[in-house]
Amino acid sequence: MQTFLHTSALQSQLKTWRSQGLRIGFVPTMGNLHEGHYALIKKAQATCHEVVVSIFVNPLQFGANEDFAGYPRTLKADLDGLAQMGVGAVFAPDEAEIYPRPVTDMSFVEVPGLSDMLCGASRPGHFRGVTTIVNKLFNIVQPDMAIFGLKDFQQFTIIKRMVSDLAMSVELVGMETIREADGLAMSSRNGYLGAAERQQAPLLYQTLQDLRDKIRQGEHDYFELELLGQEELENAGFRPDYVAIRRADNLDVPFADSPGLVILAAAWLGKTRLIDNIQL
Ligand code: AMP
Repeated sequence: MQTFLHTSALQSQLKTWRSQGLRIGFVPTMGNLHEGHYALIKKAQATCHEVVVSIFVNPLQFGANEDFAGYPRTLKADLDGLAQMGVGAVFAPDEAEIYPRPVTDMSFVEVPGLSDMLCGASRPGHFRGVTTIVNKLFNIVQPDMAIFGLKDFQQFTIIKRMVSDLAMSVELVGMETIREADGLAMSSRNGYLGAAERQQAPLLYQTLQDLRDKIRQGEHDYFELELLGQEELENAGFRPDYVAIRRADNLDVPFADSPGLVILAAAWLGKTRLIDNIQL
């Protein structure tokens, strides 16, 4: 496995691979890798000759009062895990490599509308940071395929829109959410949870499952169900940010008979903001 800190060196390796006709997969991450990340990599390896994993904690997608400084950085352990998986190349640039000028002076990519709702409403600028870095990483790696977790359902929806709007030639794959045994979606931020919070945390997924069951049983007053979900979360000790039932294809508010729904939630447990979703 080769670890690249600089774009130019990575690109020369990619050029060699491409000249050999190899299909290249790409898995962007912020590091602190867990089984969720490894599942994405395995899936990419199943259809690609070589997989590039990037590790970059992207300052542009963190708000001023968010956890950028404290975000877990575990590069050594991450590289060990990736080497064991047989990953061919890791791209681990520093901030200056990606943002050589003040970010306020640099070009950005924004998907309007989709980026302003749900998580975007409480994290202004977050998705602009995501689409800008993903676009830049796509330009650097020029992968045949890229894979993202559906745990970040809104993020995946926005990236699909960006790729379609801007005619980017990359195949996007979404990977189902990998969970702990008790149902909690794996996340680098789970490490922020105290012991008692960790016990409460699976109730987020439980709440989504309860709402899904109610819809399956024929309840279609989605607004009522969203309120019920928020109440359930509050009773379980969360501070809900939102519980939303949306169309899975475009995140629009559904009609009673709309097919293909997704239930999304974000909620605080102490200082930790957890997100999860479930598709019907
Ligand atoms: P992150 O390092 O949190 O930015 O995540 C990198 C990629 O891994 C994103 O595409 C995430 O959606 C995906 N991911 C994170 N957690 C999980 C999980 N529990 N299951 C599946 N994919 C995940």
